Amino acid sequence: MIYESLRDSVGLVKSKVSIGNIHFKQENPQLALKEYLVAQEIAESINDDFSRHRVYSAISKASKSIGRKDQALLYNKKALLLAEKHGDAKSMAVGKKNIANLYMELGLYELAATEYKAALAIETELNNLGEQVGSFCGIGMAYVQMQEPHSSLHYFDEARCLASKLNLPRELAYVYSGLADANAMLGNEIDGYYFLKAYVAIKDTLVTEVAMKEMGEIKNKYELESKEKQIALLSAEKNLLSKEQKIKGLYWFLLFAFAAFFTITGFIMISKSKMQARLFKLLELRGEKIKEQNAKLAQSNLDLQQFASVASHDLREPLRMINSYTKLLNRKYTETFDAPAKEFMHFITDAAVRMDRMLTDLLDYSRVQNKGEKSQWVDSKELVAIALDNLKFKIEKRKVKINYKKSDLPKIYCNKTAMIQLFQNLIGNAVKFTNEKNPVVVIKCESRDGQPYFSIKDNGIGIKKEDQAKIFEMFQRLHTQQEFEGTGIGLATCKKIVERHQGEIWVNSKTGEGSTFFFTIPQKAAMAQEVVVN
Ligand code: ADP
Repeated sequence: MIYESLRDSVGLVKSKVSIGNIHFKQENPQLALKEYLVAQEIAESINDDFSRHRVYSAISKASKSIGRKDQALLYNKKALLLAEKHGDAKSMAVGKKNIANLYMELGLYELAATEYKAALAIETELNNLGEQVGSFCGIGMAYVQMQEPHSSLHYFDEARCLASKLNLPRELAYVYSGLADANAMLGNEIDGYYFLKAYVAIKDTLVTEVAMKEMGEIKNKYELESKEKQIALLSAEKNLLSKEQKIKGLYWFLLFAFAAFFTITGFIMISKSKMQARLFKLLELRGEKIKEQNAKLAQSNLDLQQFASVASHDLREPLRMINSYTKLLNRKYTETFDAPAKEFMHFITDAAVRMDRMLTDLLDYSRVQNKGEKSQWVDSKELVAIALDNLKFKIEKRKVKINYKKSDLPKIYCNKTAMIQLFQNLIGNAVKFTNEKNPVVVIKCESRDGQPYFSIKDNGIGIKKEDQAKIFEMFQRLHTQQEFEGTGIGLATCKKIVERHQGEIWVNSKTGEGSTFFFTIPQKAAMAQEVVVN
């Protein structure tokens, strides 16, 4: 467990230092130092020398970078102690050289020279030629700074040989600058000038190299950027092309859609006009057929009316004969007739009267047509008054109370004779079928949507629901002659009159509770349609 946590802590130190190094490379030594200090705490806590050495070296590097040279020196020395403790020669050499460099920066040249020499001794032992160049150079520089150019020359020479051998131009330039200073101090202007020139030449190449490198980098960057731009341009072009293609596609689509639309519309219009032509022809044919049928119907109606009229007129003549002669027989031979003979005579008279009534009704029915008397504006109270007058005896006989408000009854545009007939038939039925004890008939007219709705109500026997439609048909009766006399033509005539006025007729009734007959006479239709009664 302990070992594991130790290993974890070592790893943590390592990663903290690595993070710090990244900050350092990104030229942010402050942040780097923060990470290193955290790493130091961990390293101290675990007391791991290797970790501590790693952290000390890092702290000294960052401290130096931010100008805290004392702190840098302190941590370098700490690192060196650890390296020495563990006999790590390479780290010792590095440590000593770092300390020497710091001494140089602090102006402690003697100390610097000592440390450089110590480092050089180790490097020589390790046969690390590259590192030796720096140490030789450092010693030389320290002597120059100590105003001892003589002493420096040997070290500079050593450094120059090694740097040339190892082809280290940077170090060589450093050596030449030292040699230039030393020779200048020694009064060897020519040599000094020579080394200065060599230094400048190398520096130039170095600068050129750096410049070239930077140029290369810039070039690469530029190429990269231009490539990126090219790519962007290409993709923009591609976008443009695809947009153009899309627009083209849209254009073709629209063109196609228009073409299709016009073709379809044209096709539809042609087929529509063809269909219309066909429809017109069909309608024309149908119209002709209807005209033909109407003409046939009109002819047959006329024939029927003529027949009914002729029949009712002509039949009345022999009927009158029968009536007259039965009356004569009754008067002259009434004493000689026995009871059955008298009864037979009564049957004959009765039948003759009934037949006369039927013929009258049939004549009335046949008179309702579209020719003859013209429609006119009539006061409906006048129509009702005439009808009541015609029914006077029946009303009085049955003591029927007729209720109506004159002000309720409006002026209507209608065929006067037909309308009197209509009122007469309906009021006549109401009187006939009304309550025996308290007979009341109510006549009303309501206005609905500007149209007159007439109603004739009685409190009589009423009509069963299933019989209500058929009573408007010709010869349809619900009672025997013994119960209620009649012909079964009255309501059929009413229906004919109302329909000729483009109106409707119907009944609301309940058995034993009386009946109300309604009818409408639409005024616009009545004005347009001339209802005529011969
Ligand atoms: P009718 O001459 O027999 O009265 P209608 O055509 O006028 O002929 O009437 C047909 C039948 O309708 C009548 O026989 C009667 O049965 C019935 N009816 C007509 N009006 C009324 C009413 N107000 N109350 C009851 N029944 C009626």
